[in-house]
Amino acid sequence: MEGTRTIPLAVPNLSSKILENIKETIETGWVSTGGRFIKEFEKKIADYVGVKRAVSCQSGTAGLHLALRVLGIGHCDEVIVPTVTFIAAVNPVKYMNAEPIFIDCDDSLNIDASKLEEFLEDQCHYIDGKVINKKTRKQVKAIVVVHVFGNPANMEKLMKIKEKYKLRLVEDATEALGSYYLKGKYAGKHCGTIGDIGVYSFNANKIITTGGGGMIVSNHDELLEDMAFLSLQAKTDPLYYIHDDIGYNYRMTNIQAAFGVEQIDRIEDFIQAKINNYNLYREGIKNIEGLGLLPFREDTRANHWFYSIVIDEKKYGMDRDELLVRLNKCGIQTRPLWGLIHKQRPYLGALSYKIEKAFIYEKGLLNLPCSSNLTKEDISFVIRHLRLAKNKPC
Ligand SMILES: *Cc1c(COP(=O)(O)O)cnc(C)c1O
Repeated sequence: MEGTRTIPLAVPNLSSKILENIKETIETGWVSTGGRFIKEFEKKIADYVGVKRAVSCQSGTAGLHLALRVLGIGHCDEVIVPTVTFIAAVNPVKYMNAEPIFIDCDDSLNIDASKLEEFLEDQCHYIDGKVINKKTRKQVKAIVVVHVFGNPANMEKLMKIKEKYKLRLVEDATEALGSYYLKGKYAGKHCGTIGDIGVYSFNANKIITTGGGGMIVSNHDELLEDMAFLSLQAKTDPLYYIHDDIGYNYRMTNIQAAFGVEQIDRIEDFIQAKINNYNLYREGIKNIEGLGLLPFREDTRANHWFYSIVIDEKKYGMDRDELLVRLNKCGIQTRPLWGLIHKQRPYLGALSYKIEKAFIYEKGLLNLPCSSNLTKEDISFVIRHLRLAKNKPC
């Protein structure tokens, strides 16, 4: 019976066309950090998101690390981050020996721009063009904005704040490749291309994958150049091996890029499939009392990477964790929201500001299967069990 079916949360959508590219890397010997696929993939991503140049790297995390490094974030600095995120958006702050300040999310799951502004107004002084945290006397230098689950953050408001306080802004667009704004100041602009630096990820669960990998874009050519330089061990002279700085081994390999050039050609199909599947879920879930499917921001074309439902325990008659276990028994893999970062052990001593909403989503949110290769039957199966789970186990 259908009990044997398993529907994973998110799996990559790969085609055997990639094999031709991989074959070429083997036959030519270009398997490491040089080779034609790297250049081609960088060009394709730059064209796709509408920028002049993109710099590839080993992972999204590496890209975020390079971003904070070239923005000059260091010891004694503070960086504003969301508590609702995958932890990789925050760890690079610590890699640079700086301190994070955690801000709440709003109902889009993204950083709450109003609370962010309130924090800067009430908790900081603005002296000589610098934002100084009244409590710690440290300088607040940057904001990391995460476009959570591919849902574009309120960049218009966030950029106003950034400009008013002369802060640096890094867009963690690792989940949001293909999301862009349709209206307002940034109409036509892709997530990742608005702040000082934007970072994409090609980890296996992301909208396109290279197995693991990342890409950096920036509105400042010199920063992009610096990040490319640092990603290759800061090698000033490639013949005599002269290094004028301390770099990293953060460059993407040609094998990763061999995946990338094929995957990026299919991204619009993946997004269309994800939008269609989201709409099927929405139809199926709208009449189930106590379950709500979170919308994506209006006036944007979100990539619809991950779908989230929120469970009203009283109306649904079951809490999130019980539902998760039941769905799992039926072969339906789901996932709760990430543990809030300000509560994770490495960050217990860090500052946080008015975190309230994040707790509600941490307790009640569930991500549903969202792979781009889901079938209509898969989705009906999930919806049926969301309905059934309410009354009886499967
Ligand atoms: C995936 C992800 C990252 C890290 O990307 P990797 O390529 O896995 O290093 C960072 N931030 C967020 C929000 C992510 O989802």
